[in-house]
Amino acid sequence: MANLEKHREAGRIHKKVTETARDMVKEGASLLELAETVEQEIRDEGGAPAFPVNISRDEEAAHATPSRDDDDTFGEEMVNIDIGVHVDGWIADAAFTVDMSGNDELVEASRAAVNAAVERVEAGVSTAELGRVIEETIDGYGYNPVYNLTGHGLGEYEQHTSPSVPNRAVDQGVTLEAGDVIAIEPFATDGRGKVKEGSAEEIFSLQDPDARVRSRNARDLVETVKEEYRTLPFAKRWLDDNRLDMSLRRLKASDVVEGYPVLKERDGFFVSQAEHTVIVEEDGCEVTTR
Ligand code: MN
Ligand code: MN
Repeated sequence: MANLEKHREAGRIHKKVTETARDMVKEGASLLELAETVEQEIRDEGGAPAFPVNISRDEEAAHATPSRDDDDTFGEEMVNIDIGVHVDGWIADAAFTVDMSGNDELVEASRAAVNAAVERVEAGVSTAELGRVIEETIDGYGYNPVYNLTGHGLGEYEQHTSPSVPNRAVDQGVTLEAGDVIAIEPFATDGRGKVKEGSAEEIFSLQDPDARVRSRNARDLVETVKEEYRTLPFAKRWLDDNRLDMSLRRLKASDVVEGYPVLKERDGFFVSQAEHTVIVEEDGCEVTTR
């Protein structure tokens, strides 16, 4: 059973740092500064980042985060910011999109979809119904949902657990129960609605914390990650290690670590995202991140 008070505290911190993040999305502002400021504020507030701040732009949908010496700044882009906060492993996961590209309606489509789905949540409702509502809402704006990305359950130190929450109508869903904690996260696009893996990879997570690792450097890395982040996703820029790339390559090859390549639509298309974390109740739900 989830610790609901800790979920709520993570949500309180999430709402606070989301305001900070919103204020920092401006043309010419630094992506790295935004990510580091938000991650530090999460710690100052008594939480910890549940994953690196994701800053995905234009055709990118997820898993983009600045590198250590990133000097990239915001331009006339669609900027989607996904933030995770945990308190003792209990997670608040939510995202918003700011449009500076002239595609406000696309932002409105994902926001309306998450709100419509949240309205529908209560014990006894199927995740298939949430997917139907999401697809119908985004379709109403003339856009496509991203079919191959989904919302998810949140567990203790587990960023993605069952049930999966589809962003389209599906035949079979999972019936929600009171006390379930789920993240609902529609993505809307003017593209086909299918994202693919790009080549950039800045986010990783430990898959097998107890693996026997031969290389000394790789073993030290596993120990550090285990202590600091457990099996939650971490950013390369969080680790000060001059043999980091080599160690990560080795650990990926032996499935001890998994990488999360940036997920993107085709070039020239845009993706918006809106996400909230909710606690399912008998007659509705409590949104921890709103
Ligand atoms: Mn998220
Ligand atoms: Mn999520």
